Amino acid sequence: MSEYSFIIHEIKGYISSLFLIETNGKFLLLDAGCSCDFKKVKSFLEERGKSLNDLKLVVVTHMHPDHAGAVKYFKKNNIPIASTEGAYRWYRGLGGFIQHKIDTFLAQFSARRKKNILEPVNYKRKFIPDYLLKDGDTLPFFPDWKVVFTPGHTLYDISLFNEKGKVFYLADLILKMGDKYVLPFPIIFPDLMKKSLDRIKEYNFDTLLLAHGGLLKERGLSQNFSKVIDSLKETIGKIDKIEFKIFYPFCLFVHDKWVCKIKQCR
Ligand SMILES: [Zn+2]
Repeated sequence: MSEYSFIIHEIKGYISSLFLIETNGKFLLLDAGCSCDFKKVKSFLEERGKSLNDLKLVVVTHMHPDHAGAVKYFKKNNIPIASTEGAYRWYRGLGGFIQHKIDTFLAQFSARRKKNILEPVNYKRKFIPDYLLKDGDTLPFFPDWKVVFTPGHTLYDISLFNEKGKVFYLADLILKMGDKYVLPFPIIFPDLMKKSLDRIKEYNFDTLLLAHGGLLKERGLSQNFSKVIDSLKETIGKIDKIEFKIFYPFCLFVHDKWVCKIKQCR
């Protein structure tokens, strides 16, 4: 079993799990969480005698409210944000505006389904990252973490792999609901989603970090996980929940989907 040279803290956010990686007293936050999660991260650090000054980087894997919602507050506190070039422009144009409203609504919808006390999730649909990440890059200040492009859910999703610790942060690529693994909603680029899932099979990991599902640790997890991935691939394009069926057509207004349709690139 791999032993980490860092500590993984899981903070239960409003909708998702936020992972705070501690290496030699310095912190890396895997996804910013909802706007209301900022104070949870701040108090988590303060309760341990640390402060926001010890947080050296926040990575935003994609622009959804439970991943990019609190960016504004981290930026206000001069904490650098890393993301991909496409991600922060995901909600551009009228299509992006509509998509942003839908995604914000869906975030509250899922909080309500989890019977959470409702908190604000409003956030800006665009921001300028301090560091732009490309596929294969290592993270600034935390070079043991490597960027793996895993689009499908949006066009710009990333995952983060730590080879030495055999840890893979998959953000929203795969979710665990109870005992069941499921794919995220929406899947705007189904073909890319298949490729991204296949890509995960190439990695050797013992620990998975899921934004919706938490930390899973098991020796040789990647070998056992191949079967899970294959069965998940079969579910692409099948939407069972009625509310998702209603929303799905509206999710296709987003700018990059139109561009790809016109160019027939996907
Ligand atoms: Zn998402």
